[in-house]
Amino acid sequence: MSMGLFCIWLIDYLYKKLQKIFTMKKIISLVILTVSLWSCFRSPDETQKEDIKPLNVILLIGDGMGLSQLSSAYYFGEQEPNFSKFKDIGFINTSCTNTRITDSAAGATAFATGNRSYKGAISVSPQDTSSMTNIIETLSLLGYKTGLVATYSVTHATPAAFYAHVDSRDKQEDIAMQLVTSEVDFFASSGLPYFNAREDNKDLIPLLEQNGFEMETQRLDAKEFNVKKKYGYLMPPISMPAKVDGRDDFLPDATKMAIDYLSRNKDGFFLMVEGSQIDGAGHKNNSEMLIQEVLDFDKAVGMAFDFAEKNGNTLVIVTADHETGGFTLGAENGTSDDYDSHDYAVIEPSFATYGHSATLIPVFAFGPGSDIFRGVYNNNEIFHKMLKARELNK
Ligand SMILES: [Zn+2]
Repeated sequence: MSMGLFCIWLIDYLYKKLQKIFTMKKIISLVILTVSLWSCFRSPDETQKEDIKPLNVILLIGDGMGLSQLSSAYYFGEQEPNFSKFKDIGFINTSCTNTRITDSAAGATAFATGNRSYKGAISVSPQDTSSMTNIIETLSLLGYKTGLVATYSVTHATPAAFYAHVDSRDKQEDIAMQLVTSEVDFFASSGLPYFNAREDNKDLIPLLEQNGFEMETQRLDAKEFNVKKKYGYLMPPISMPAKVDGRDDFLPDATKMAIDYLSRNKDGFFLMVEGSQIDGAGHKNNSEMLIQEVLDFDKAVGMAFDFAEKNGNTLVIVTADHETGGFTLGAENGTSDDYDSHDYAVIEPSFATYGHSATLIPVFAFGPGSDIFRGVYNNNEIFHKMLKARELNK
C-alpha cells in the first residue's frame, strides 16, 4: 500500500473508532481545541522567526548633553558633526517620578525599562523598589547579543540601569556583583576597583571568567571575536581621564569593537554607548572639557551610523538622559546689560548651574522604524519605541 493510501485508510479507521465514542460535534470541538492549544504553546521564538527580522539597536546616550552641548560640535569642531546625518528628530521630557529635574539613574531607568522611577533608582519601581525588567533582559531572551560601552565605570548609573536592579545608584559594589550574572555579553569601560578592590574583599574577575567572559584589564585590544564567547574590557581607573586630560579614542574604538563582535550574531544585537563625561564637564562648568567630550561622543555616533548605513537592518538612536550645567552659547560679554558691548561675532560658552536642568532633550534616529521617534514625548517612550521598531521590522 502506498503512503497516501495508508494515510487515508488510517484517518478513516480513526474516524470510525472515534464516531463510536463521540458525536460528530464532539469530534469537531476536539479538533478545534487541539489546533488552538498548538498555536498557544508554540514557542515565541518560532513566532519571531516567522514574522520579524531581528532588528539591531544601538542607543547612544550623551550624558548631560542638551541642545547647546550638541550645538557646540557645530561651532567648535573641525568637520560637519555626524548628528547632521540624521533626518528623524524628536524631543523628550526627562522628568522622573519624584523630581522635575532628573538624574542619570532615573534617566537611564526610563530608557532601559520603559518606566519612570525616582531620582537615584537603578531599574527598580518607584512604588516598592522591586525590579523592573530591562531591555537587555527582554532582548537576550529573543537571542540578541548585548553590549555596553562607557568612559566612566560600568557600575555608574547610566550603564548600570541596563543590567542591575538596585534601590540606590550609590551601591556600586552591589551593581558590580549583578554584572557577573547579567545577560550582558560585551562591555568596555573603566571601574576595575569595584570588581577587585572591594570592601567585601571579593574578587569578581574570576567570577566573570567562570561566567564565560574573556577579561582584559589593561587595554582595549581588538581581536578576532568569537560570537560564542563574552568579552569584558575593564580599565583600572574608577573614571577614565577626560579627553582634555589625554584620553585616547577609547569611546569610538570600543564602539567599533562592540559592533564588530555583536554583529556576528545572526539573531540581532542591542548596544548602549554612553558619552559619560559630557555630564562631568557640565558639573565642573568646564566648557573646553565639555566641547571635547561632545566631539568624542560624535565620533562614536559616526561609528554607529556608518555601520547602520551599510548594514540596513540597524536602528541608531542618539539622545541624552538630561542636560547638565544650564550650558549656553551666548555672545562674548553677553552677561553685561550694556547691549552695545556684546560681540555677536564671538561665542562665549557659559553655564547657569552646577547641576542638571529640565530642558527638553533632542532625539536623533536612523534606520528601520526611525520615523516613530519624531515628536515630543516622555523619556520612557524611547524604550517602547525601540521595541515597537523591532516589531514593525518584517
Ligand atoms: Zn550629572
